[in-house]
Amino acid sequence: MAAKYTLVIHAGCEGITRKYYGPEAEQEHLAFLRKSLAAGRAVLDGGGRGLDAVCAAVEVLEDCPLFNAGRGSVFTHDGIIEMDASLMSGADLAAGAVAGVTGIKNPVRAAALVLEKSSHVLLIGQGAERFAENFGLEKSDPEYFQTSRRRKEYLTAQKQAGEQFGTVGAVCFDRAGNLAAASSTGGITGKQYGRVGDSPVIGAGVYADNASCAVSCTGEGEFFLRRVAAKRIAAMVEFGGFSLEAGAAAGLDNIKALGGKGGLIAVDKAGRTAISFTTRGMFRGLARQGETDRVAMFGPPGSWH
Ligand code: ASP
Repeated sequence: MAAKYTLVIHAGCEGITRKYYGPEAEQEHLAFLRKSLAAGRAVLDGGGRGLDAVCAAVEVLEDCPLFNAGRGSVFTHDGIIEMDASLMSGADLAAGAVAGVTGIKNPVRAAALVLEKSSHVLLIGQGAERFAENFGLEKSDPEYFQTSRRRKEYLTAQKQAGEQFGTVGAVCFDRAGNLAAASSTGGITGKQYGRVGDSPVIGAGVYADNASCAVSCTGEGEFFLRRVAAKRIAAMVEFGGFSLEAGAAAGLDNIKALGGKGGLIAVDKAGRTAISFTTRGMFRGLARQGETDRVAMFGPPGSWH
């Protein structure tokens, strides 16, 4: 165990402006980001795997009603909540994901079960719920996930064209030298019933490979799907001679070129990190072994509290 760990988290990048979030709201959001980093650190300080650390960090963000994952997820066009989540291990390319789940309290835990307890990678809807239930995963009623803020956004979205998005995610380089990545989301406000975005699709919204890097994306999922964005960045790093930073920037340029927006976090096996977004801010946090936690939400990407 020679390596020093690095954990990076995000909680979405849409509409993060000082006009919308005053100083009090800012502190409230940053406090949850710190809590998420602390949960990941607790795993890593105990010598745990990065795979478990990203799960723990994402779980805190799913439980927080402020972010678009788990409790606080956005509404579909039909006024219900359908969530997607994924998890990938860079050491052996093991992966697990769930899509379109409505009653699992922590979708990222269901993704972890798919990774560890099934021979499959992606389970959807009722099948995913039944699978998780068989392993005793905590369930929640639809009302648990719904917040008044998301209901308001949904009602507004019905009147105006426009989308609200936000996803949570984490990437980690752990003390054993392994990479891991996770994502969890409610998707996009007003999305069509049955719509699946990039977040549970391995290679699009999430990817981890010890040969290159771990990546977790947020943004307009259709563009990340079409670009196979997370894998594309990993390929640029592995085969294209790109540094992590340059690969991440090029990956987002590719999204912009299609007319999309979003952001991502990434880490490589040297513990180098990339945090990029095309928007004005992104909820983000960084924990390095032996260093103080850093969190931020407004731009530019390199600024921290
Ligand atoms: N990428 C997610 C999706 O399209 C949404 C987000 O990241 O905000 O489902």
